Amino acid sequence: MSDKKYLFANWKMYLDHSESEALALALAKKLTLPEHIVMAVFPSALALSDVSKTLKDTPISTGAQNIYWIDKGGYTGEISAHMYKAAGCTYALVGHSERRHIFNETNHEVRQKVEAALAASLVPVICVGETEHERQSNKTEETIETQIRSAFHNIAWPENKELIVAYEPVWAIGTGQACDPVEAERMHELIKKQVIALTGVTPVILYGGSVRPENVQQYLNNPNISGVLVGAASANIESWEAIVDSFR
Ligand code: PEP
Repeated sequence: MSDKKYLFANWKMYLDHSESEALALALAKKLTLPEHIVMAVFPSALALSDVSKTLKDTPISTGAQNIYWIDKGGYTGEISAHMYKAAGCTYALVGHSERRHIFNETNHEVRQKVEAALAASLVPVICVGETEHERQSNKTEETIETQIRSAFHNIAWPENKELIVAYEPVWAIGTGQACDPVEAERMHELIKKQVIALTGVTPVILYGGSVRPENVQQYLNNPNISGVLVGAASANIESWEAIVDSFR
């Protein structure tokens, strides 16, 4: 297992173009990263190209928040994986819970996006997580297993391409109600076993859901939690710096 720690910042639709540029500039100027930290920011599609240029000579990568699986054509409003790659992206979030639950993205669509990301040489960050209702109905494991199976069954994972999954319980995202770290570690172990059984590849698994400077360390101490995917607390320089400091 790699000793690297992953620190991914999902800026969602929190920052407009100039706010994204200002934060990227502040990161480029202020942050020095130890070598074991892998950092990426996921700005809005409009800001991505400029943010990628601003961060070009830094160790910070960029990623798309969403991709479409067809390369080009009459798909008004969509942006393909290849287009994101050309705009400077290394990663793409796929199946984020806000895509699955607000925009009704299905497991089948998520799978198409995983394949499109790989075809465009992006590293997909595949997000999985159960709703509060699924957890209360004892369907947590079943839900996660279905999402993982759909994303990975019969896939030929390219050699040397990282396989990254983010475990993000839906009830923990943007609610301030973070998952208990012991439970998060249990879920990460389950996901790891399933991904290895399906692909033969050992995944990097990130925890996401109300990560804050005050609780991030509790996740990092667990053997199967390789890092965090952070929303709200990543969109301002003070809280992000405080989170980065926990990784040093
Ligand atoms: C996310 O959007 O992936 C996320 C985890 O959000 P938050 O940190 O705001 O809960």
